[in-house]
Amino acid sequence: MHPKSANRLAGFGTSIFSEISALAARYQAINLGQGFPDFAGPAFLKDAACSAINADLNQYAPSTGLPTLRAAIARTWERHSKVSVDPDAEITVTSGATEAMFATIMALINPGDEVLIFEPFYDSYPPNVLMAGGIPRYIRLHEPRWEVDFAQVRAAITPQTKAIILNTPHNPTGKVWSRTELSQLAAIAIEHDLLVISDEVYDRLVFEDYQHCSIATLPDMWERTVTISSTGKTFSVTGWKIGYAIAPNSLTEAIRRVHQFVTFASATPLQAAAVVGLNAGEPYERQLLQFYNARREQLVKVLRDAGLYVLPPQGTYFVMADIRDLGWDNDAEFCRYLISEIGVAAIPPSAFYHDGYQSGMVRFCFAKKPETIAAAAEKLKQLGSRS
Ligand code: GLN
Repeated sequence: MHPKSANRLAGFGTSIFSEISALAARYQAINLGQGFPDFAGPAFLKDAACSAINADLNQYAPSTGLPTLRAAIARTWERHSKVSVDPDAEITVTSGATEAMFATIMALINPGDEVLIFEPFYDSYPPNVLMAGGIPRYIRLHEPRWEVDFAQVRAAITPQTKAIILNTPHNPTGKVWSRTELSQLAAIAIEHDLLVISDEVYDRLVFEDYQHCSIATLPDMWERTVTISSTGKTFSVTGWKIGYAIAPNSLTEAIRRVHQFVTFASATPLQAAAVVGLNAGEPYERQLLQFYNARREQLVKVLRDAGLYVLPPQGTYFVMADIRDLGWDNDAEFCRYLISEIGVAAIPPSAFYHDGYQSGMVRFCFAKKPETIAAAAEKLKQLGSRS
């Protein structure tokens, strides 16, 4: 890096997703690493984007987002949570959940503020907190079921603690926080007057009888919570980067002040198309879940057949697989071997711990065509015990 690069970059490497995708391309490995669908997004959605471009919806959108999109986000939120939200005052459209998270942290965190982050974490949270001058404080979820030790949460709180970052359904573990767990976290947030920033980008990808619950909808939580989501996962168009933040007006005003000076506005025709996507509503969501349910079952079976111990995820499109039965303990070494020798890419979750903790697992993504997962299965047959 250039010697004149800003000090705030110290310690920031290249994102693990870029690194693994580049390695996968170099070895022509089947990429079950970075989370993105390898299949086409829905035709009705792509048509809507093309129509919006052809209708000349090609100039800046209002900074806060197209009113039609904010209204569609509000309707979707109300349908799922049974709580109403004001699309003019409480919703901001951003360039992906990534920008929503950055804008929220920049808007709310002062230098010296401490922010609680659960590990494994989504990789952008700690750099976002650090760029704001905040101090991340880490709390580990306990495998194999990724349980929260609330005594640890309480012990991590100091007078400087300002916020908790939550992610449910959780990447990379597939954990869906239960209402009971969220209530326990909410009680702590209320007791210590903390903000909660809740990343819910996988809100529509929840399996079996597990239920997604937004912590903002629990009693006395609305005023202190920012809920972040994205259309990328729900509509299989991760490259569109249309995300949003839902928060009470006072917090929304702060987020909007940052957003206007980061991107000002997000891609107009894609916002217009996202309205059509969200309006497809429950029938679309049901179909999506059916597709992902089948892929989840397929990948879980493939990994088990390859000798990896797997607990099926409750949500998201990721599966964590235990590599220790095959004689491995270092996830990065295993992933390098898997890519270069076996021809399948996965993500080493040690990248999602501040201290590189080895959980003994690696993350596979099942947002893939059935034939991609079947091709990976063929390759994984070569995976034997290391001895
Ligand atoms: N969220 C995706 C994942 O977890 C990757 C997004 C990215 O590449 N930044 O794999």
